[in-house]
This record gives sequence, structure tokens and C-alpha cells, in this order.
Amino acid sequence: MDTTDVKPYIPLDPDAMFSELEARLEASGRNFDIGRVRAAYEMAKRAHEGQKRKDGSPYVTHCVAAAQIALDMGLDEDSIVATLLHDIIEDTELTHEDITREFGSTVAELVEGVTKLTRVQYTSKEDEQMENMRKMLLAMAKDIRVILIKIADRLHNMRTMAYQSKEKQRLKSLETMEIYAPLAHRLGMQRAKWELEDLALQYLDPEGYHEITNDIESKLPQLEEFMEATKEKIESGMRSEHITCTVQHRIKHIYSIYRKMYSQKVDLSGVFDLCAFRVIVDSIPDCYNALGVLHYMFKPVPGRFKDYISTPKPNMYQSVHTTVIGSEGIPFEVQIRTWDMHYTAEYGVAAHWKYKIGDTSALKAGDEDKFAWIRRLLETQQESDAGDFIHDLKVDMFADEVFVFSPKGDVINLPNGATPIDFAYSIHSDIGNHMIGAVVNSRIVNLNYVLQNGDIVEIRTSKSAPGPNRDWLNIAKSGSARTKIKQWFKRERRDENVMRGREMLESEFKHNGLSLDLLENEAVYTPLLNKLSLQTVDDLYACIGYGGITATRAAHRLRDEAMHLGTSDRKTAIDKMNEAAERREQQAKREQHAINGILVEGIDNCLVKFSRCCMPVPGDPIVGFITRGQGVSIHRKDCRNYLNQSAGDNEARWIKVSWASQISNVYVTTFTIAARDRSGLVLDIATVLNTLNAKVRTLSARTTVPGEALVVVTLEVKNASDLKYIISRIASIPGVTNVTRAGG
Ligand code: MN
Repeated sequence: MDTTDVKPYIPLDPDAMFSELEARLEASGRNFDIGRVRAAYEMAKRAHEGQKRKDGSPYVTHCVAAAQIALDMGLDEDSIVATLLHDIIEDTELTHEDITREFGSTVAELVEGVTKLTRVQYTSKEDEQMENMRKMLLAMAKDIRVILIKIADRLHNMRTMAYQSKEKQRLKSLETMEIYAPLAHRLGMQRAKWELEDLALQYLDPEGYHEITNDIESKLPQLEEFMEATKEKIESGMRSEHITCTVQHRIKHIYSIYRKMYSQKVDLSGVFDLCAFRVIVDSIPDCYNALGVLHYMFKPVPGRFKDYISTPKPNMYQSVHTTVIGSEGIPFEVQIRTWDMHYTAEYGVAAHWKYKIGDTSALKAGDEDKFAWIRRLLETQQESDAGDFIHDLKVDMFADEVFVFSPKGDVINLPNGATPIDFAYSIHSDIGNHMIGAVVNSRIVNLNYVLQNGDIVEIRTSKSAPGPNRDWLNIAKSGSARTKIKQWFKRERRDENVMRGREMLESEFKHNGLSLDLLENEAVYTPLLNKLSLQTVDDLYACIGYGGITATRAAHRLRDEAMHLGTSDRKTAIDKMNEAAERREQQAKREQHAINGILVEGIDNCLVKFSRCCMPVPGDPIVGFITRGQGVSIHRKDCRNYLNQSAGDNEARWIKVSWASQISNVYVTTFTIAARDRSGLVLDIATVLNTLNAKVRTLSARTTVPGEALVVVTLEVKNASDLKYIISRIASIPGVTNVTRAGG
């Protein structure tokens, strides 16, 4: 039991070990192609030529030993072949293709899977992180056999850990305790789990471990005597009731005793139940009959009876447990189960290759069975042969999730198909809102990169990032990321939302033969505003703009409301719709004559130019000035020249003009930024303009008085709303005191 003594240097002979494996493959009575297994051994031996283990043996001895464990676990031929080759991709020149050529793609995939798991960086974390780590390994494995091979590999490495450095012993033992023993448990492999735990414990707490083993050793003669006597007593009791059974006894595994000692704060003399008994019978009714006999023979300890037959554990474990008090007053535990249950308990998932498990009806009973996938597989197995079963044994448990690392090594759990945007928002809204790029496994990726299990993801942020883009709503996979992006738009870009929402609703209205004039009727829109808890029609536009309600839905509600209005109101509404339709028609007619996006009242096809003093853009309130011989010059209504000259001699030369509703031109305008002079000011302004995709024509900066700077920007914009947004962003740059448009 004690394996901490470092055995003297005796190099193992790999050929002798493999001969032994061959003999056991033959003795197993299963249909192995031994020539194929031998070919795998030969390949591994050649590939690892010259490599040595810490105990001085040729490296390939590890591969053979792991393959022996895989055989003991009951794994199939492909798994045993893959176990022999499991370190080839990681540690030798040979590749995935070499393995495919010799042994087929299944074996190559298995080896590749094990290699990926080997490369995962382990760091000790809090419990929740460990659970994610285990899930990630399962998800990465894709095929459950990859995990089983990895467990065989780890078991052999733990058995030979004595040759490693203290630091490596501690790290590997911790990883075994936190990752591999729980995985073995989850897969129902009790035998492997116990051995992993005991091996890990002796490196993690050697003192505690030896305290227990020494104590057991000192009590061994006494314990053996007690166990033999009790076993005989149970056997004769069962015989007299005509129950056919096998009774086993054992000393419990060290780690379970250790946990009991520390969690229940009892010292070893108080741990009576160091030993346990098992009664294995042929049928489920016999389990309960045997329980009756036991409780008749011995006094049961209240509260210690558990029925995992009617309610199996999530990992498929089934048995009845009870604790009774023997004639010497010593309590001991008894597990009662059928042979099928026994194999499942010992070998878990792997039992299905090794034994033919029959009745699984009890498993089907549990609805909240977390291992539904195994249950599904068990059901599949009943209808098909074992070969198909193996192919179906894929880990689809986490098919809709993906697990990635943060740079600090935290495992982040995201929906399958998630992108760096989802990752950023899952860390914090601020990270998402300030994201300017992403790096995955040290390479820059696009924001629509689909994250893969095990990726290490790093998000680049910047204080002056422009914030999320509307495209992100389509790229993000998780609902929470989309919600956060929508919240940002709602908060940060009201003007733009109002404009967008208005456009969206208008085009939706056009579809339905309606006009936005409908929204001049309070009776039409008030019910919808109330329903959405909004105050004004602009709020409604904004709501549509950021995606709080779709334009289609809003349009339908408004139309329905107009239809359901009382007669007079309805008449008004319909009148308004008709008037609006007429106006639209006239407008459309006039717009055919629009020049540079401008309609001049009463004059078609006249020359139109934009004044240089105020440089108006669509959306600005405007007015026209009839020049001498140069057509109409367009000014903003807040232009100094208009305000100064609108009355007096020139009054008659000012005429009404308006923007056409469809404008495809871009407009050039200018604004001036006043700021406290500082280093980096112009760079900051340029960065903001750049991130907003503004088309800058010129940008000039000068110092006016010491400490004061003026920056003049000329750029192309589509409309006043865009311009207003750009100016508001510029105004928020540190040091900027004022932003004014030309001519204002
Ligand atoms: Mn290995």
C-alpha cells in the first residue's frame, strides 16, 4: 500500500512488459487484433527511442503500463492502441498523419484529443473555477475515450510519482485531486477514483496519510479477524434464507477515512468503520431481501440507510447502503447490489465495453438525471450492438457551451459560437464598451472570430474607444452581451437613436401606406407611449432606434390604434392620412426639381449654392438668399449674415427653401474647437474623429494666447444629426472648452 519508498534503480524491460500485455489481451477472451496492438507498440518504441523516464527506464514502458491500465479498465482496441501512442504527437517527431496512415483516423483523433488535454495549463483555483475546468476538459475531449485514456495515463504517472521532484509531486497531486479524481467519479469509475485520491493524498499530506496507514497496519490482525468472522456470519444468514450471494470485505480507501477524520473532527480510534462489506446478489428483489436479513441479524444504525437503487446517483451508481452494529458492538457498513450494479460502480462508463450490462430500467426512472447523455447511450445500446455503441459514445454533454481562458487563467463559460465580444461583455460591460480589438492565443483576431475550447482570450481596450458598433448586435451570441450593447446605445446615443428610429418607423409606415403625420394625433400614440412607459414621441423614436421595440410592431400598434379610435377621431386621423398622402405626392413632384438636395419655393431648376459662412448640412433649418446673377445661396437660419440682414433693404431677397427628403450628396462643413493647450490634444481629436469614421478634409491648430488653442476642422457629413453627434464626442475630450460651427 505504501509506495512512497523510492525503489532502487532497476530499468524495466519494455519488451517483457509488452509480452505480458499480449498475454493478458489473449486471456481477456475479447476479440483483439493483437498484431495491430503490437504494431502500435513497435511504433511507440521507435518514436520514443532514446527517451528515458525519471526511474531510468525507456520511455515506452510508460506507454505499455498505461495500456495495461486501459485494458484493466475495459477499454476497446482503438483505445488501447491509442494509449500506446498517447505521447507520440506531444513528445516525438511523428504526427497525426503518421498515426492516421498506420492505424486509421479514430486512433489518430484519440491521440490528438489526449495531446490537447495534456497542453491545458493547470492552475489551482477556487471551486467554481475547478468545475469549469473539468467541464472544459470533457468538452475538449469530444470522445469520452479520450478522458478514459487520460485517466489511465495519469494513474500510471501517479503510481510512479516517487521519482519526480517535490514540486512536481505537489502540483500533479493537486491536479489529480481537483481534476482527474472528480472526473473519474463523474464517469462512475470508483476504482480509478479511489486509487488516484490515495496516491495524491500521500504527496499532499504525507503525515496524515501515514498516520492512517500506520494505524491500520497496527490494527490489521484484529481487523482481519473481525472481517472474516463477520463475513461468515453474513454468508450463513443469507444461506438460511436461500439468498445466493457473494460477500466481499475490504478496508476502506485511505482518503475516505482521512476525509471523515478531518471533516467530522473524530480521531482514528473513533473511526470504527474502517472496514466495509459488500453483498452481491443476482437480482434487484434479492437486494431488498438481503437487506431484510441483515437488519434481522444486526441492529441497524438509524439514519444510515440509503437506497441508491430506486434513486441512482448522477454517475449511474446503484446500491443499497446500510450501517449495522456487529455482535462486538462495532458498527460496519454494508453495500448491497447486483453484479451489473457492481461492474458499473467499479468501472463506470468503461464497464460497457467490459461487461454486458442488462437491466437499466431503474436508471430511466430518475428524471433529473444529470447524466442524461449516458442514459441515452444506454438506451441506444439496447437496440444496437456494442460496436455502434462505441461510436455513439461522444461527449455531447456540453455541446452548446464553449470554455475559454482569461489571461489570468480563469475559465470562462460561454454559449457555443461565442465571439470575443461575448467574452468581453461577460467580464464587464466596461470592457465590452471600451473594446478596440481582441487577441486569441497571442494572435490578433477579428471580432467575429468563433471561440474554441481552450483558447486564451485577451481583450484590448482604450479609453477613447468609440463604443460598440450596431453590427456587434449580430456578432454577439449571448443574450447578456446583446442586452448590454443595447443598453449602451440607449444611454449614449439618444440623438442618433431618435433619428434612426424616426427613419425606421417612417419606412415601415410607407410599407403600410401610412404617414408619420399619424403621430400628430395624441389619441393615436398615447396608448403606445403609456404601454412602453415613455413620455414623448421622440422617446418612442429613440426606443425603436436602439431596438427596444421593432419598427414593425410599433407601426402595427399605431395603425390598430388609429383604426379603433372613436368616429370623430377616426375621421380626423383618416383625414390627416389623406392630407399627408396628398402632401407627399406634391412633395415628390417638387423633389424631382430639387438641386443639390434643395427645394426652392416657387422656383424650379434655379442655381443653388451653399454659403461659405455657415456651411449648412441636411437637417439644419435653412433659408435662401437670391444673389445677383449667381442663383440662390443657402444659409442656416442661425447664420449671423441672415440674422443681420433679414430686415431692411434686402428683406425681399430672403426666400423659403427646404431640404429634399431623399439626399444622397455629402456636405462639407466646418467647426472650431477651443481648448486649453496641452500635449496630445490634436492627437486625441484626430483619434476621436478617426474612430467615428469622420471624413476629415482639413484640420489645423494654432495657439491663440499662451495656454489656449484653436483647432479648425473641415469634414464631410451626411446630415446635422451625424454632425451633432461628432461635436458632442469632441466636446467630451479633456481640455476642450467649446465647439462652435462656422457662422453661428
Ligand atoms: Mn503519458
